[in-house]
Amino acid sequence: MSKYLKSIKGTQDILPAQSHKWQFIEHCIRETAQLYGYSEIRTPVFEKTELFARSVGDATDVVQKEMYTFDDKGGRSVTLRPELTAGAARSFIEHGLFNEALPVKVYYVGGCYRYEKPQSGRLREFHQFGIECFGAASAGADAEVIAVADRLLKRLSLKNIELKINSIGCPVCRAEYNAALTAYFEQHLGSLCPTCIERLERNPMRILDCKSPICSEIAAGAPTTLEHLCGECAEHFESVKKYLTAMEIPFTVDPRIVRGLDYYTKTVFEFVSGDLGAQSTVCGGGRYDGLISQLGGPDTPSLGFAMGLERLLLIMEAQGFDFPAPAPIEIYIAPMGEEAAMKAAALCGQLRAEGFSAVTDTAGRGLKAQMKYADKLGARRILVIGDDELKSGVAELKDMSSGERVSVKLKEGLVSAVYDQSIHAALGELTGAVEKKFPPVDTGM
Ligand code: ATP
Ligand code: MG
Repeated sequence: MSKYLKSIKGTQDILPAQSHKWQFIEHCIRETAQLYGYSEIRTPVFEKTELFARSVGDATDVVQKEMYTFDDKGGRSVTLRPELTAGAARSFIEHGLFNEALPVKVYYVGGCYRYEKPQSGRLREFHQFGIECFGAASAGADAEVIAVADRLLKRLSLKNIELKINSIGCPVCRAEYNAALTAYFEQHLGSLCPTCIERLERNPMRILDCKSPICSEIAAGAPTTLEHLCGECAEHFESVKKYLTAMEIPFTVDPRIVRGLDYYTKTVFEFVSGDLGAQSTVCGGGRYDGLISQLGGPDTPSLGFAMGLERLLLIMEAQGFDFPAPAPIEIYIAPMGEEAAMKAAALCGQLRAEGFSAVTDTAGRGLKAQMKYADKLGARRILVIGDDELKSGVAELKDMSSGERVSVKLKEGLVSAVYDQSIHAALGELTGAVEKKFPPVDTGM
């Protein structure tokens, strides 16, 4: 096969047979975000490189190693977004959204690009759902943001998930902490990897995130941020924990969580799955009180999270989640001959105008092949139009699940017959759903 017929390494196609799973996840995302008062924001797939360097952070792996950066034809350096917080923050400042009633709560769903080694749960093009809550300083905001992720994971029936939280403090505690960290790592200077030696000067906290086994081992013994929180940060963290407890969201405090992006302050958190292997984090987030002002906006304490959709899907598939089937085709009209084909096309048009999905033959196939095709499509009903039907103007509408056949007048009867059947089916489903939700009460009489 020609090389250009192979998709780029680390990217994947979502084929028609799989796309309903994505649609279901996205449906639940939008539904959940709406429950908490979040509105969608859509930002460009590429931004000026400097935006990411300044927000994600120069010393992070994402900026140092993983970005798809190129010069456009005008010689400007642009980058395919490795995450969406930077774009949302830029947009918040550019459009003066800080003048609106705060907090401004936005969510996004979109593609991200990182030049990483492709493996299970790690791609070069992947998709994130994330939320940003701009302009909320209280611990209740932290708990609410965490609750959005928690609710979605429950909505998607994910099991075996653990919430880990930590506080990495503010610039006040960070100064003291960085000094303690530097002193600690300087004792291990000979063993650190070259990148971490560089990090030691620029941002020693990044060493805690290094994936090399030796650095991780050294990092395991490093002082923790929790031991160095200032009074305000310690109080904030205590309050977040109380909120989570009151909201019945189980968590564990993990002082090793520092997150891979520079902009975080105070609360950071991860939802980790036991069913993902090495790439176990499905969602990561936290507070970034300094980001908006650092980018040139007004002081706006904010926070958010991002969740990897591919990883969500991997977990759901591993746990055997029963995805709702895509909506079936309501009717397949099988014509025999050209005149019948035109009649079928016209009837399909009428049905679609009423909101019923309708498919007919466009490949000029015989009846047997059409039936096979209709069966593959999972069409709910079938109507055959041959010479007899054309002449009489009457045809048989067959319901594929019940086997029931009704005779309908093509001109004025088809649409209403499909209506009648659909209403019956919908009523049946509704009754079933209500009975399931509110089973008859046993009064003991
Ligand atoms: P990791 O430690 O796995 O590299 P990260 O800290 O780089 O994750 P974030 O930048 O916080 O991840 O992104 C949030 C979420 O996006 C991750 O928890 C994960 O679910 C998803 N994600 C990140 N990078 C990738 C990738 N290359 N492929 C697929 N999903 C990813
Ligand atoms: Mg990463």
